[in-house]
Amino acid sequence: MPSSPLLHGLTDYHTHTPLCHHAAGWPIDYARVAVERGLAELGFADHSPMPAALEPFDDWRMALSDLPRYFDAVEEARTAFPQLPIRLGLEVDYLAGHEAWIEELAAMADWDFLIGSVHYIAPGWDVDNPAHLSRFQTQPVAEIWQMYFDTYERAIRSGLFDFVGHPDLPKKFGHRPEGDLRRFYEPVITALAETGTAFEINTAGLRKPAGECYPAPEFLKLAREAGVSMLLNSDAHAPEEVGAGFETGLALAREAGFTEVVRFEGRKRRAVEI
Ligand code: ZN
Ligand code: FE
Ligand code: FE
Ligand code: ZN
Repeated sequence: MPSSPLLHGLTDYHTHTPLCHHAAGWPIDYARVAVERGLAELGFADHSPMPAALEPFDDWRMALSDLPRYFDAVEEARTAFPQLPIRLGLEVDYLAGHEAWIEELAAMADWDFLIGSVHYIAPGWDVDNPAHLSRFQTQPVAEIWQMYFDTYERAIRSGLFDFVGHPDLPKKFGHRPEGDLRRFYEPVITALAETGTAFEINTAGLRKPAGECYPAPEFLKLAREAGVSMLLNSDAHAPEEVGAGFETGLALAREAGFTEVVRFEGRKRRAVEI
């Protein structure tokens, strides 16, 4: 794919590696695509390790013992593409009660950013895992969403994260409660505003039954009105997904009134016009 002028000045900070056991391509492969597509920066954010005592926790995250391989792989990409700033991050699973562990993780490297993501809404139940799809048949969707958004608000209020990932993830398979969904978004946006935490527009939703970016346009509009910062990410699990859907995501951001995105280096944030 030729370098797209549209992607110039944009960054993609949510990408994965094979160390989480469900992504393809190493950082050097993602970096090659990022350069081809004209991205200003690339960031890695693989699924965070759990404490050794909790392993085996699930089958879709990095092992703690693989962190050095992660750092090496990111370093290899930096060496191969010195013209491309490559940021080191982590997609940290927020679970209530894990705050001390997340602080330990935060001290394990010179991270450029930490993403706070909620996948687990109850012990053993990761809401985006197709293995648990039948739960949407046995429990009201509104209850599932409430469990998710309550945990998401706690994640934000923990103050442990630079930005939060895929804000309305429970819609992944197309399950949306009845009525005005702003009742779920509002407490979370208030928490973002009060803690100065940013959020991502995650284009992976376009590639899922949800059929739209995370979060929904109504969330974006409320977040803009509340003065919350955002950035645009692909959640790439393969090199060809770097920058995927950014035309759509950027258009949504502009429609909601956003005029800038944020970038991170050494966990310091700066705003860049889009
Ligand atoms: Zn993943
Ligand atoms: Fe995620
Ligand atoms: Fe991810
Ligand atoms: Zn993700």
